[in-house]
Amino acid sequence: MHQGISTFPCTQCGLCCQRVNLANETKPLDRGDGTCKHYSDADKRCNIYADRPDICRVDRQYELHYADQYSWNEFVDINLEICSILWEVSEKS
Ligand code: SF4
Repeated sequence: MHQGISTFPCTQCGLCCQRVNLANETKPLDRGDGTCKHYSDADKRCNIYADRPDICRVDRQYELHYADQYSWNEFVDINLEICSILWEVSEKS
């Protein structure tokens, strides 16, 4: 992790894990209903959290692809907007 960046303020709602079908980068994780094959419906947690792929790590994605374009705080805000969209989608479905 970059020095000085905070932890992403994840609320562990699990919505991103339940909509992996919406992004090409996470589609391979889809168990067939849009939810990740590593997501536990019972626990509402990732079964491989410590070993989850880079695409599931906000800080890793920032370092790999976005650090030249955005500050960490800007990147967090962009991701939180996506969290909001996922909430809207989940409330309509
Ligand atoms: S691997 Fe884990 S963190 Fe990544 S989408 Fe699946 S359940 Fe979520």
